[in-house]
Amino acid sequence: MSYYDEILEAKNGQVLFLLGNEAIARGALESGLSTAATYPGTPSSEVGDLFYAVYKKAGMHFEYSVNEKVALEVAFASSSLGLRSMVFMKHVGMNVASDAMMSIAYTGTRGGLVIMTADDPSLHSSQNEQDNRHYADLSHLPLIEPSTPQEAKDFISEAFDISEKYMTPVIFRTTTMISHERGLVQVSPLMEKKKLSNFESGKDVYNSLPQFAFRNKKLLEEKISNIKAQESERFVRVERADENEWGAISSGAGYAYLKDVVSKYGLSISILKIGMTNPLPEKAIINFITEHPRIIIVEELDPYLEEKIRALCELRGVDAIIYGKMNSYFPYDYEFNMDIVRSGVFKSMGKQDPQSFAKGTESLLVAPRTPVLCSGCPHRASFFAVRRALKLAGMSDAKISSDIGCYSLGAYEPYDIGDYMISMGSSIGIASGIPEAASKRTVTFIGDSTFFHSGIPGLINAKLNNAQTTLIILDNRITAMTGQQPNPGSMDPDDLDSKLNIPIENIVKGIGISSVVTVDPYNLGEMLHAVNESFKVDGPSVIISRRECAILRDAKERKAGRHVVYMVDEEKCSGCGKCVEDFACPAISFKGGKASIDPDQCDGCGVCSERYVCPFQAIEVA
Ligand code: SF4
Ligand code: SF4
Repeated sequence: MSYYDEILEAKNGQVLFLLGNEAIARGALESGLSTAATYPGTPSSEVGDLFYAVYKKAGMHFEYSVNEKVALEVAFASSSLGLRSMVFMKHVGMNVASDAMMSIAYTGTRGGLVIMTADDPSLHSSQNEQDNRHYADLSHLPLIEPSTPQEAKDFISEAFDISEKYMTPVIFRTTTMISHERGLVQVSPLMEKKKLSNFESGKDVYNSLPQFAFRNKKLLEEKISNIKAQESERFVRVERADENEWGAISSGAGYAYLKDVVSKYGLSISILKIGMTNPLPEKAIINFITEHPRIIIVEELDPYLEEKIRALCELRGVDAIIYGKMNSYFPYDYEFNMDIVRSGVFKSMGKQDPQSFAKGTESLLVAPRTPVLCSGCPHRASFFAVRRALKLAGMSDAKISSDIGCYSLGAYEPYDIGDYMISMGSSIGIASGIPEAASKRTVTFIGDSTFFHSGIPGLINAKLNNAQTTLIILDNRITAMTGQQPNPGSMDPDDLDSKLNIPIENIVKGIGISSVVTVDPYNLGEMLHAVNESFKVDGPSVIISRRECAILRDAKERKAGRHVVYMVDEEKCSGCGKCVEDFACPAISFKGGKASIDPDQCDGCGVCSERYVCPFQAIEVA
């Protein structure tokens, strides 16, 4: 039985050692989940990995949708017919989904609908560290935040119940630490799925025409105020200290660090842990503050709780001395750790910090390493060819716009690909918008999955405006960066010619772009020629650089017994260093004035053996 099958089939009371994301998926299955949809994004991806592995056995619908907005629409439609449904995404995915979410908040739902967002403090794999708790305020939707894998599983079931009871979507927010933390989780039985039911005419109107939205706005306010009265207080836990001088209020990952600091240093601080952070459990908060004159607020990212708690105290005329971010006891930025929380707590209490924050004694110290593209990665060949072509055409200063995916790593030396890299699908719009005066022609890079996600409108716009850009679609046949999920171009990764797959060529030609070629980036000569020709085109020109992800390819080659490695012939190697400086495959290093290939790292792609990389043709199959 596979690992994921074991999670699906675990019996009531069994204890599993799960990632927070796996606990969330199990919790959703226990809640009778019928439909789940997502666009993969770290740190939420493992929820989808589990569903993808078990959805047929679990008798549910699961899909990797084309983007987060579509994923939410799919889950919403299913819930409108009474089925429990879920959509999950990374924090920036919420920006994409929010257009639909803001209207769905008004229409409400029928079957439980949970919208999970996984935020990424410290930007481990993201372009920003936005705090998605603000979406709860913006949409007037309830927000639940777990602090442990066990809570992640249990709270998901609560989220479905609340969603169904109040006919409203519920936002479920984790952060990287909660999603990726592993812990013991006791499972409950799997609930029966709800039955599909049709609209009750006159009652269910999932239509945002102003006349309905006008009415629904009032209903939305009623729902959130009922949830505040009847549900929010259930999600609090008070952990009392011996003395009542100090209290701390926290939620999510902040609580986990706070609890460790309080217990490790034997601090006399009572803790109010909050599980539903919108609407806030005001009664519990006021009671706690009344009992504890000095309050420390521990939360990652924005002072979301702090602002609300300060306002609440003001409104209720409750005197409290509050220590938080707004008076500089804790930092606004980045993920918390033991050092940050200990330092903030000791500073609040006016105590000498027993350990120097600067030394980072309790947080793991890891030497900074620049992320690199894998050995054999086809993107490296594309970057190399484009850089070479730009140089040959005297266009080295052309502006290059890149996008979100593993190819974002092209921004590092020596490729220096990515003067712009803003958000999913933004590369083409930006490249098209660079004024002609800045550069004769721009170059744009976008991955296959990102192209489907939100790159297509940019290309339509580029065509309409005759944008002078060469668009290179890096089609590695998979959504690689988030863990090898399929996308519309490769719905069946084991059969890349499957009828299910949507050819990118058809889309580009359908838009009316006539200059479109498909090239294998491993063939540097062909790639160079294609890029060079594209520079002569008036208007947008598209090169589909198609070669499957090196990890997929490597696995297939090894399975077929075709795996080879390359080596440097020392006799032929002149020591010019071009293979290291210009191509920079991590398998190649420079020792004693000669290049050398580490056979354990070599993927056998053979690109470095081409004369464009090694002018002396000193690299060959070992
Ligand atoms: S063949 Fe050359 S470029 Fe390809 S992985 Fe091996 S060392 Fe790197
Ligand atoms: S490019 Fe060729 S000749 Fe130059 S260092 Fe590398 S292997 Fe040696």
